[in-house]
Amino acid sequence: MSSTLEMPNNIDVENEGGSFIKFESSKEHYKAEACIVWCYDARFADLYNDFLSQRGFEDSKVDAVKGAGGAQALAGGEGADRTVAESQIAKSIKLHHTERVILMVHMDCGGYGGSKAFGDDHQAEWDHHVAELQKAADLVQSQFPQVKEIECWLADFDGIHKIDAITGAEAKEEEEEAA
Ligand SMILES: [Zn+2]
Repeated sequence: MSSTLEMPNNIDVENEGGSFIKFESSKEHYKAEACIVWCYDARFADLYNDFLSQRGFEDSKVDAVKGAGGAQALAGGEGADRTVAESQIAKSIKLHHTERVILMVHMDCGGYGGSKAFGDDHQAEWDHHVAELQKAADLVQSQFPQVKEIECWLADFDGIHKIDAITGAEAKEEEEEAA
């Protein structure tokens, strides 16, 4: 065991028994293309990467807030999960001037007890999750009015579907029209 933390640069350190993994990271500061609130369920990890690539986002310029349930944290009442998710979005905005928040929930999410919690009724689960996304979008809009774009996405095992959440302004217009 070496007593110094300094790595001698004259030896090949690429495979030091896994204690060092060589990788050059960019030191450039960035404006985030989005802050993405995504469930950490690994079954949707490849979808996440594909989503970034299909959207033309560079992984290096996206602030990912990955936690169990994804946007579920923002759809429920006050609590630790919501506090953490809000705090992460706030920091993304502060540090990386984020103007777009992307909210994701998915089918068969353990955070909701999986599909079995809905009696494997796909439509019931779907409708529930759409409502959850709407609640999360409402919260983000009220807490972070500087965010210009809030997107809602529902992941299923066939891909990911964009859900049109009604923003506060639109909801008001609809109320007025209905009145
Ligand atoms: Zn999940």
